[in-house]
Amino acid sequence: MSSGHPSGPLPLADRADQLVGSVIDSSTSLLAAQTHDIVRFAMGAPAPEAIPDSEFTAIADRVWDPDSFTYGATEGEPELIEAVAERLDVPCDPERIVITSGGMQGLDLAGKLFIDPGDLVVIESPTYTNGSATALSYGADLLEVGMDDDGMDVDQLEELVARAGRTPKAIYTIPNFQNPKGVTLSRERRERVIELARRWNSVIIDDDPYGMLRFRGDPIPGFPELSDNDPLVFSVRTFSKILAPGLRVGWVDADPRLRQLLINAKQAMDTCTNVPAQQLVAGYIATGGLADHLDHLRGLYAEREAAMQTSLQTHLGELVSSTHPDGGFFCWLTLNGADGVFPPQELFELALAEGVAYIPGVAFSPAGAFSDALRLCFASSTPERIDEGVRRLAVALDRARAE
Ligand code: PMP
Repeated sequence: MSSGHPSGPLPLADRADQLVGSVIDSSTSLLAAQTHDIVRFAMGAPAPEAIPDSEFTAIADRVWDPDSFTYGATEGEPELIEAVAERLDVPCDPERIVITSGGMQGLDLAGKLFIDPGDLVVIESPTYTNGSATALSYGADLLEVGMDDDGMDVDQLEELVARAGRTPKAIYTIPNFQNPKGVTLSRERRERVIELARRWNSVIIDDDPYGMLRFRGDPIPGFPELSDNDPLVFSVRTFSKILAPGLRVGWVDADPRLRQLLINAKQAMDTCTNVPAQQLVAGYIATGGLADHLDHLRGLYAEREAAMQTSLQTHLGELVSSTHPDGGFFCWLTLNGADGVFPPQELFELALAEGVAYIPGVAFSPAGAFSDALRLCFASSTPERIDEGVRRLAVALDRARAE
């Protein structure tokens, strides 16, 4: 019997073509399917033991009541907005804060508010491709700008924009311990990015999930501070890396004149952010334990980053070069030498077979560059496991060279 369903192609919107898949997620699901012992350098997740789960259970007992399970205010729970504005980062006007479902929703809101189809959007190369995918989903044309140890190459940015013959609508940057390279945008370059954004009337999408996880060196003021809260700065933040990614709680710090637009956009999207999760985060901050927790995380990740560098030196030596992040989760490895470039998928599969997972460099470039590189997350494994993982990576690399 006919279902009455048309048999032709589904009437998809043109924008469905712009919804590119994330290699980050497909590698992650591949991992979930693995049953054997595997060292997980792939996913950018916090150390499981660093998630304050028992504190959350105690807080839930205290703060959840029947009202926790109905709709909340679109802009977020007032106690969380207040805590974010007063106690995290640099204190700011609470009218600047809108709570979001993780950092990703902040990036999506930026796309919704600022990007029309065909707009030019600057991205770092390599970059966090879920972020560039958001810009693509709004029809952006991407302009990839190279990086060095001081972050985005701002001279190249100026040159490429001049060559493009049009100015960018947005500049997407991850200023601290960048994902995937682990490098940090210098103060001088931040100031130049602000200057260029003002000249071009471009919004700076300032995506900074790792800034509070600096374990070495002096902090560099962020875009809101350096620009004196210029309305062109749209900052996206998250609790995913400092508390727990499964809670899906983040925030946007933006000009108060954008507040109503953000609320309207969220009402058309998800009405409000998960209320019980916001209560857990606000409850956790209210205990006063966040500063100690962050100190603990910095110590833990400093130790793991050092372990990663030592193991890379021991097992891979001159075969690779690694970035040396001063915080965050990631090292970026480049395979040295003319014979250092393997088909990325081949090396990835050999590594998986050896029992170590990472994300191939190509996953971080919409143009498909970086076949000679890979991202390693040092945050979620102990120093012993890191050493074992790097040893396995060295075996996989040997096998790839032999093939
Ligand atoms: N931006 C960057 C640079 C990230 O690394 C991540 C998480 N991997 C996000 C945004 C998304 O954060 P969330 O999980 O809070 O959505």
